[in-house]
Amino acid sequence: MKKTKVIIIGSGPAGLTAALYAGRANLSPLVFEGQQPGGQLTITTDVENYPGFAEGVKGPELMEIMRKQAQRFGAETAFKTVESVDMSKRPFKVVAEGEEYFAEALIIATGACAKWLNIPSEEEYKGFGVSACATCDGFFFRNQHVAVVGGGDTALEEASYLTNHASKVTIIHRRDQMRACKALQERAIRNSKINFIWDSIVEEVVGVQENGHKKMTGLKLKNVKTGLTNEFKCDGLFLGIGHQPNTMLFKGLLDMDSVGYLKTKSHSTETNIQGVFAAGDVADSKYRQAITAAGTGCMAAIDAEKYLTQLE
Ligand SMILES: Cc1cc2nc3c(=O)[nH]c(=O)nc-3n(C[C@H](O)[C@H](O)[C@H](O)COP(=O)(O)OP(=O)(O)OC[C@H]3O[C@@H](n4cnc5c(N)ncnc54)[C@H](O)[C@@H]3O)c2cc1C
Repeated sequence: MKKTKVIIIGSGPAGLTAALYAGRANLSPLVFEGQQPGGQLTITTDVENYPGFAEGVKGPELMEIMRKQAQRFGAETAFKTVESVDMSKRPFKVVAEGEEYFAEALIIATGACAKWLNIPSEEEYKGFGVSACATCDGFFFRNQHVAVVGGGDTALEEASYLTNHASKVTIIHRRDQMRACKALQERAIRNSKINFIWDSIVEEVVGVQENGHKKMTGLKLKNVKTGLTNEFKCDGLFLGIGHQPNTMLFKGLLDMDSVGYLKTKSHSTETNIQGVFAAGDVADSKYRQAITAAGTGCMAAIDAEKYLTQLE
């Protein structure tokens, strides 16, 4: 059995920034890294929008730096996944890989996962043309032709953002009408850079090897009404079919919205349970950036520190 002041669940930018601040506040944080140590940025290549890196930085390298910085101030990191949490009384009990741990405060930073199409070629071209984040990767597609899959608000927002960079944006939707709100639909229709392919699904991402590098060159599309397939040329594919926050563990314990994002009080990281704080993408359906996750991770550690002080 192990007891500490703060347990942090998740080791993305939110969890590791919370660990840095909690470590510097002498709270001896214990971080459970989960199945994706370092979080979502470990599956990307260049991160060009994290402040402090004028030349950009590789995602995995950035996360290694964040981990080392937190460890320097006493944060302990464990490559374990949390299986259950008991928040009914303090100290809170966390079970990770069969072992019990206790803490006076918890910071939940379990992130969210983009929804993917789950076809093998998508996996092959992730980071080489296929992306689920226009704000992160749109810049790499200047004056190119990109496709966006989806028909809801996310897809239209991603498409609209991409027109700042791409020469042309094609929205591919499996139905013949959008689910997105009217205002977004009208804006997309008015935008001369955006066009639509209806009733179609992506069957395959196609590409070539150029000078030892993979490069996406197009998509194999299938019309769901006619059953016909065709090859569609484009330079990038963005998934705009939504995200799923990693909150299964907290169902019935913490307040969440209809999608599963944790609810926090305004201007705070406090959840509905005193002593439990949420940071990063797990509580943010809107911004979903490394810097905003790190920002709320900092807030969560400060909130936890204040909470623990007032308990003394
Ligand atoms: C391909 C890709 C490229 C991106 N590029 C950029 C970019 O260039 N710039 C940018 O700002 N943002 C980018 N993003 C978005 C950015 O990665 C996220 O906004 C950010 O990582 C969110 O941080 P987080 O700490 O909230 O969660 P995450 O990074 O999602 O981390 C969640 C953590 O929780 C852990 N976890 C989950 N469940 C458990 C459990 N049960 N027990 C223990 N641990 C658990 C996971 O293992 C992981 O460590 C990109 C995202 C993707 C997918």
